[in-house]
Formats: sequence, C-alpha cells, structure tokens
Amino acid sequence: MATKQDLLNQLKKKMSEDNTLPLKKEATNLVFCEGDPEAEIMCIGEGPGYYEDQKARPFVGNAGAFLNQLLAVAGYEREKVYITNVIHYRPPENRDPEANEIAAFKPYLDKMIEIIEPDVILTLGRFSMGKFLPDARISKVHGKNYNVSWQGKDLVVIPMYHPAAGLRNPTVKAETIEDFKNLPKIMEVLEKKENKDQDKGEQMNLI
Ligand code: URA
Repeated sequence: MATKQDLLNQLKKKMSEDNTLPLKKEATNLVFCEGDPEAEIMCIGEGPGYYEDQKARPFVGNAGAFLNQLLAVAGYEREKVYITNVIHYRPPENRDPEANEIAAFKPYLDKMIEIIEPDVILTLGRFSMGKFLPDARISKVHGKNYNVSWQGKDLVVIPMYHPAAGLRNPTVKAETIEDFKNLPKIMEVLEKKENKDQDKGEQMNLI
C-alpha cells in the first residue's frame, strides 16, 4: 500500500507538471509542503515569499523563523508538524493572493489535507482562515479552537495571526505568542475528548 510520503511525492510531481497553475511563469520554484507526514498539526500559511521561492521550501524567511519560535513556545519542533500554504508559487512583489489563484491551488491543498489527515489545522493569517471560517474576523477568533465540518470530515481549526503580522505589530506579536503558549492546553483537552469518544464507541460495541 502507498505510504503518505508516496502519495505526497505523487502529488508534488503532478503539481510541478501542471502548467495551468497561475504564477508558475513568474516564480522560480514550486513551494510544496513539508514536515512529518504523520503530524497531528498542520499549519497553513498564505503563499511563498522571496526566500521560499528561492529555496523551494515554505516558511524559511523571517516569518518562518518566527513561526519556528512560536512552535517551540508550544513545545513542537518544526519537523514534527506539517507546513503548507494556500498558494504554492510566489506572487510578484509578495502581493496578496487573488481569489482565482486560491481557487486554482485549492484541489492540491485539499489533497494535502486528505493525505496528512491532521487532528488540528492552524490557519496562519486570514487567507487560510477564510477556507474554513469564511465569516470570521481574525481579531475576534485568533487562538480559539473551532469544530469544522469539511468535506464530510470533522476537523479542528485554530485560526492564528500570520507570523509576519506579528513581526509588523508588537501587540499582535504578544497575542500570537500567548495563543501558541495556550496550544498545548487545547491539544490536551482535544485528546481527552477523543479518548472519551473512543471509550464510548467501544462501550456501545459491547452492548
Ligand atoms: N508567508 C507565508 O504565508 N508562507 C510562507 O511560506 C512564507 C511566508
């Protein structure tokens, strides 16, 4: 049976051969996702910047260095989570992704989520938050966990500010650090709930 890594390799090949994807001509490299295919947490950012485009890896510039610090605050090594974006080629001058671009990359991002099957998705910034919580305001919802029904699956989504926003604004930076400090508590509660649901399921089987 194909492993998650095999499926990711196949997806990367398909994506790199897809000449219909927007921004491909302007970009240096495809910035695919990376991390532990068995990760329980998946981080979804916005799109590649200059360094990501050069190195073909997500979150390797200043925002990436801050993301690594935030994950460390929460007790996670970067290598133990999965990291991706809503678009996978760099937009010129790092402009915001456009709706048609997000739509063009959507089937690939959806497939990444399907393969990884994360327990929790951390959306980084408003563009990835919009995928799951289209009407939410980030200033109101950041750091809280939401149960989302997505393509028939139950997902937990925690919207976080984008790390770059924290680098621009000291108040947002402090709030983001607090949100990540709080992450282990949320994960513990979710784990307990999952164990309880499992026990209930097993008891039902015995009746
Ligand atoms: N910002 C993002 O949203 N994604 C990256 O990969 C890098 C910076």
